[in-house]
Amino acid sequence: MSRPAEHRSPGKVWLVGAGPGAVDLLTVRAVRLLADADVVLHDALIGGDVLSLAPQAKHIAVGKRCGKHSTAQRFINQKLIHAARTHARVVRLKGGDPMLFGRAQEEMDALAAAGIEYEVVPGITAASAASAQLRVSLTRRGVARSVALLTPRAGEGEHPPQALRANADTPTLALYMASHESMAIACELMSYGRDPATPVALVENASHPSSREAFTTLQGLSEQAIGTLLGTAGTPEGPVLVMLGEVFREVLQQHTPHWQDDSASAA
Ligand code: SAH
Repeated sequence: MSRPAEHRSPGKVWLVGAGPGAVDLLTVRAVRLLADADVVLHDALIGGDVLSLAPQAKHIAVGKRCGKHSTAQRFINQKLIHAARTHARVVRLKGGDPMLFGRAQEEMDALAAAGIEYEVVPGITAASAASAQLRVSLTRRGVARSVALLTPRAGEGEHPPQALRANADTPTLALYMASHESMAIACELMSYGRDPATPVALVENASHPSSREAFTTLQGLSEQAIGTLLGTAGTPEGPVLVMLGEVFREVLQQHTPHWQDDSASAA
């Protein structure tokens, strides 16, 4: 006879990274956990092909596509706790790596406060997927000895400009959740002294067959919206990673028509 849900001992939660989108970029551990899950709570950006790895599980979409929403986060925390109280094996599936810009800390804190056991399974973050796709090492020897992963988007009680200012000189930058404010970000970085000629690479939907790429300079980024640069005529459909630094110089030159390439005409 089944007991009322509230009286069962809590299940366990795995916060699992789903990687950048391509289903074969999930870890073997993630695939095993999905195959054994009773319930999967997933973000909006998780594709159907990834979810099909858990056909036996109940699927609950809890994603917020962008920003604001501390209320939404509280709601997600409650759903997660409820799922763990009513199911034995709960997978909380998050895009990329769950510990990067994924609100993992809030969810871990909520689970700990509720006395629910959890584990974290890393995933491939967007910057790794984009760098692989472009075949550009983010820490190319002799060019960049450090890379900063950052977001200009403010969380509660945070001051985003500090993140940009503090990292204006970091050789390689990977900017998450930056596509809506990209022109302002470019201006801001230049105001902190970043060279306007710094190469910029944009990757939409890294690792998907539908991925789009665009290359420009920091100056170019300050002048044109991301959608225009990517040729999507409006808002890009997928998530976009904005990356910049000298490591992208070659790939920028390969994609720049010679008549636009100042360095070529100067040579
Ligand atoms: N935890 C995720 C990041 C979540 S924040 C990770 O580790 O990748 C969401 C932002 O990630 C998006 O706004 C975008 O900037 C970036 N992003 C996520 N998936 C992406 C993809 N496939 N291609 C390009 N950017 C992506």
